[in-house]
Amino acid sequence: MRRRTILSAAAWPWLGALASPTSARAANVEPHFATPEEAAEALIGGPDRAYIDGLNLREMRARWPSMPQTQDPDAGRAALRAFYAARTRSFTDTERSALADIVAWCSERVAPRSTLFARTPWSFVKVDGSVEGGMPHTRGDSIVLPAPFLARMVEASARWANGSRATTRPGADVLLHEQTHVLQRQQPARFESLHVDVYGFRRMSPPPRSTWHDTHVVANPDAPELCWAWQRPEAAGGSWIVPSVVLPDGAAPTLDAMQPVALEVTQREGRWSFVDDATLARAPALGAVRDYGARFDWTDENFHPNELTADLVALWLLEGTPRNGASTLFGAACDWARTHLA
Ligand SMILES: [Zn+2]
Repeated sequence: MRRRTILSAAAWPWLGALASPTSARAANVEPHFATPEEAAEALIGGPDRAYIDGLNLREMRARWPSMPQTQDPDAGRAALRAFYAARTRSFTDTERSALADIVAWCSERVAPRSTLFARTPWSFVKVDGSVEGGMPHTRGDSIVLPAPFLARMVEASARWANGSRATTRPGADVLLHEQTHVLQRQQPARFESLHVDVYGFRRMSPPPRSTWHDTHVVANPDAPELCWAWQRPEAAGGSWIVPSVVLPDGAAPTLDAMQPVALEVTQREGRWSFVDDATLARAPALGAVRDYGARFDWTDENFHPNELTADLVALWLLEGTPRNGASTLFGAACDWARTHLA
């Protein structure tokens, strides 16, 4: 998921090793465009059906402000499934052509750096602007593109092709970010060492629960595991925090009102717990935890390790080496990508 969906042609932040470059490239550059029926299955059925099963009533309403009144979460989930299934759309020829061009542009740059990415098929789902707040995201093996966002991408890509001096083709960063989420879902174990050994997160097993969190959290289809704790530096008290996205009390029930926050957790004899609900309700904005933001300085899409990684990988694939002035952690994360995504 990307909260900021303004296309940027700024320098955003993969051959020699290819055993069969021709076949790898061919598999990569011919994207699949889902029919509305295939798209509906990707959104409401499929292997990650559990995503909608886990939504609470507040976040369902935030996703669909005119949702019929109900206090029954199961009834809400059934209604939301029907709503999403009815909002899938067919790609136009212009959209297919533009996406194929962006994918081909990405594939040329990706192939020398990552055989894994070069061999991962591209699949697209189109929905109208009312699904998931109009944000691009992924479900199953597909990248979900809301129509208004897709229209901006197609227009920007056409402008670029007509003579832009920008080095990065508009849309490439977003597609590589989202394709990283597809890989994360296909091969979650591959990314574990990045989260733990490079970023310094600790996996909480089992993850803690709290009534406040269960009723205020906003699920991210691209970051389903709410199990990652990070310890603040000793100089800042050394407390453990869990980055999470919530709808604060009193906030308008729309996805625009969601806030990344730092939720405090404690560990006793290996068992993790949230602090009390009253404290959680006053949790600081994640952006106010300066040591966290300074550590993961290559993006402000920092509310989950999956998001940190999606931006990291897009940057690495497009630029190859860390930019001048990049942080030590960014360099270490690029080194990890070079080894683990080759
Ligand atoms: Zn994302």
